[in-house]
Amino acid sequence: MTAPHSRPGEVAVIGGGPAGLMAAEIAATAGHRVTIYERMPSPGRKLLMAGRGGLNLTHSEPLERFVARYAEAAPWVNPILEAFPPNALIAWCEALGQSTFIGSSGRVFPRAMKASPLLRAWLARLDALGVRLITRAHWTARDADGTLHFADGTTHRPDATILALGGASWPRLGADGSWATALPGVAIVPFRPANCGFAVAWSAPFCTRHAGTPLKRIALHHQGRTIRGEAMVTNAGLEGGAVYALSAPLRDAIARDGTTTLAIDLRPDLTEPELARRLAAPRGSASLSSHLKRHANLPPVAIGLLQEALHQGNNTALATLIKAVPVTLTAPFALDRAISTAGGVKLVEFDRHQMLTRHPGLFAAGEMLDWEAPTGGYLLTACLASGRAAGHGAVAWLASR
Ligand SMILES: Cc1cc2nc3c(=O)[nH]c(=O)nc-3n(C[C@H](O)[C@H](O)[C@H](O)COP(=O)(O)OP(=O)(O)OC[C@H]3O[C@@H](n4cnc5c(N)ncnc54)[C@H](O)[C@@H]3O)c2cc1C
Repeated sequence: MTAPHSRPGEVAVIGGGPAGLMAAEIAATAGHRVTIYERMPSPGRKLLMAGRGGLNLTHSEPLERFVARYAEAAPWVNPILEAFPPNALIAWCEALGQSTFIGSSGRVFPRAMKASPLLRAWLARLDALGVRLITRAHWTARDADGTLHFADGTTHRPDATILALGGASWPRLGADGSWATALPGVAIVPFRPANCGFAVAWSAPFCTRHAGTPLKRIALHHQGRTIRGEAMVTNAGLEGGAVYALSAPLRDAIARDGTTTLAIDLRPDLTEPELARRLAAPRGSASLSSHLKRHANLPPVAIGLLQEALHQGNNTALATLIKAVPVTLTAPFALDRAISTAGGVKLVEFDRHQMLTRHPGLFAAGEMLDWEAPTGGYLLTACLASGRAAGHGAVAWLASR
């Protein structure tokens, strides 16, 4: 809750992504003079990129299940999501003139299915609140007395600073993780790709024939977890929604064991005995591909995957193989292609107001913190909720001085 304050303070927000813009909105609404410093020529570039996929803002599932998506970070995210739950996010979005809808998967999107109208309305609101936005301002360091340094040699000494510098994926959009060296004494968990694809050593014929082809209506199994959905075969491996959903355990298994094996169910709607019954039909002079196509109704890319396994000497019965064709993943794709970043400022570095305990007056929010979540709106929701928490934290801290 915002504490009362007697005089307005100067609040610097560094980073003009969703977390920073939300922190700025809260501090300005409480009456403080807020300046956003953004290194790029314009703010919200990753938000705009997220809008290209429809802008999945949040999810409509019950809050308890929602919070569980953050795995080990659930205890940290729980209070900030209770203060700003998905329905509050939806109300906030609609107050900016962007009506929303719930898709068939329970995911929530703006009706516009893009981020630009939301960002435009939001920047106009911030402008009306008196928030200053300085672009091409690359923050490089903060002194113990709170003085901020920028790459062009300028300095500024606000009363409170909120960092919302993002993770390290898609660096061309502004967040490149270079801030990690600018926070001496703060424990930072190394950055790792999250919601990413994985390398697979496909054979040359498979690659030539199937790279760029989606695997639709499949189920992925990995170490006790199952995800239904789609994946995309690429030259380098596998990516897409179902793979992203398993990316944290896949990435961690590869880090631990060197490689990991994903089992792909190519016909999740059919049982193995049913497949075996269908495939028992006499093959005659038909090729294996024609037989699989005719009796298991498999597309060429799925047949290609089975042939990859058979060429590698796998002699499992065909029906069993269709239900769990093994694919060995050798490495996650590079961080700069990942949708989000795992790692960042350790959550134990904060108090309950998102203030770095070793740096009084310095707050942090968004993807730069050490949490991760699957796609489904969980990323933006936690960025906005933590930006809001950091904004309120700064307001309360200024009031207490
Ligand atoms: C392709 C793609 C699709 C996505 N789709 C979705 C989706 O549908 N739903 C969802 O929930 N999430 C989605 N995300 C993730 C989501 O966009 C991010 O999690 C979110 O933008 C992170 O917000 P943030 O404010 O923490 O960081 P960012 O949005 O990265 O903003 C950080 C800002 O800080 C600035 N900055 C960094 N360093 C400095 C510095 N030293 N000085 C000054 N400024 C600096 C950067 O330029 C940047 O503008 C997607 C991401 C990608 C890449």
